[in-house]
Amino acid sequence: MSELKKKKLERKISLTKDARDGILSFCKMNHPNEGILILRGKSKRGDVYIDELVVPPFSETGADFAGFPHNPLPLDLSYVGIVHSHPSGPAKPSLTDLDNFFGLVSIIVFLE
Ligand SMILES: [Zn+2]
Repeated sequence: MSELKKKKLERKISLTKDARDGILSFCKMNHPNEGILILRGKSKRGDVYIDELVVPPFSETGADFAGFPHNPLPLDLSYVGIVHSHPSGPAKPSLTDLDNFFGLVSIIVFLE
């Protein structure tokens, strides 16, 4: 991959303190199951700013799974991505996660 292409894929992701705290407490609440949330905010020239969280409708979560059907969601440009937890680690996307990629960013939380 060329240097230029690599640069293009880099995104700066900023979260408000409230959003970050909200994610952590939501994931703790769902522990030991995975928790999943939609990230709301805006993107500007590839940089993503997250300031709101949305609990996805009809989400299903288990100890090693978290997902929701994308169809019932309104086409909302402020939905910039998703965050979900991996209660037992690792903080890496699984194949299913990559298949279910939604929006611009996907954050994985690993709670110890
Ligand atoms: Zn996952």
